[in-house]
Amino acid sequence: MAQPQMRKAIESGVPDNKQYLHPLLAKNYGNWKYHDRPRPGVLHHVAHTGDEVWTVRAGTQRQMDVYTIRKLCDIADQYAEGHVRFTIRSNIEYMVSQESMVAPLIEELEKNGFPVGGTGNSISMMAHTQGWLHCDIPGTDASGVVKSLMDELYEEFKREDMPNRVHLSTSCCEINCGGQADLAIIIQHTKPPKINHDLVANACERPAVVARCPVAAIRPALVNGKPSLEVDEKKCICCGACYPPCPPMQINDPEHSKLAIWVGGKNSNARAKPTFMKMVAAGLPNNPPRWTEVGEVVKKILYTYKDDARPWERLSDWIDRIGWPRFFEKTGLPFTKYLIDDWRGARVNLNASTHIRF
Ligand code: SF4
Ligand code: SF4
Repeated sequence: MAQPQMRKAIESGVPDNKQYLHPLLAKNYGNWKYHDRPRPGVLHHVAHTGDEVWTVRAGTQRQMDVYTIRKLCDIADQYAEGHVRFTIRSNIEYMVSQESMVAPLIEELEKNGFPVGGTGNSISMMAHTQGWLHCDIPGTDASGVVKSLMDELYEEFKREDMPNRVHLSTSCCEINCGGQADLAIIIQHTKPPKINHDLVANACERPAVVARCPVAAIRPALVNGKPSLEVDEKKCICCGACYPPCPPMQINDPEHSKLAIWVGGKNSNARAKPTFMKMVAAGLPNNPPRWTEVGEVVKKILYTYKDDARPWERLSDWIDRIGWPRFFEKTGLPFTKYLIDDWRGARVNLNASTHIRF
């Protein structure tokens, strides 16, 4: 009898990137002698073999239409050597083997509206979330916030004038994509969800919604004779986690969904340990199309840091040195007891949960 064949796993993960590398990068992989930056936005790598590669980095809007992608690819074919790659902060990089190709490539990119920069001690392009394009829970349009802010920080992207690199991020809900950044802009819901009881019975799996709440604030309930849910508003921390599995738990609100600014997070081990961000401004209006109030606070923090930090201090190092009271004094931001929460209260909050105990 024929032996049953094992089914092969279908691999649908990220393909091996080596096949897409510029030939000189593939040839000299792991064999570099040194690298430097001849100007902001340009990296220069020299290999032990004597090969040299210049990389030109340009900012993009991250969520791109097919025409923009074609334009970027045409630039790669005409002004570079047909190879590109994207960085984790949505910049595009072109690799060339001749120094003489660098200046015309920069000129063409800038002519088409793609600023060249984002290297070294610049303000990086903002890492931002999927927002309304792919995700089911946004409380605001992350791309709009990013566009408005990067318009104002455009010159800082092109220069390397900050004390150290500055990573910015935006997340359009409170619970997922946030990450750690030198400065992050995060939506902040300030009221518990309003429940549309007519829809709950049809749209939601109630046990899944109850299990989703980190502080066990949701209970099954019968409302007007129909199965629904109720929220203990004293316990609710307005996190928004119940909204994805149950859209009738409406938490997005034009007035009560605000924006908060967090500072001092970093993922890297360079010079100091990784650090968590802390909230330093809350309750800023979610005010499209230019989010002016958010822009004011972000610029206040970034330019105070620029003036006051020592060379090579990241935002968190600077705050560590001067202390939180002086951070608020120098930036002129108002301090309240709700800011820079260090999670001392989390033990009480989270121990009320059905699934976390410590
Ligand atoms: S931040 Fe939240 S809403 Fe925005 S893309 Fe991430 S998970 Fe979705
Ligand atoms: S999941 Fe979050 S927003 Fe929803 S009830 Fe629980 S604490 Fe409140």
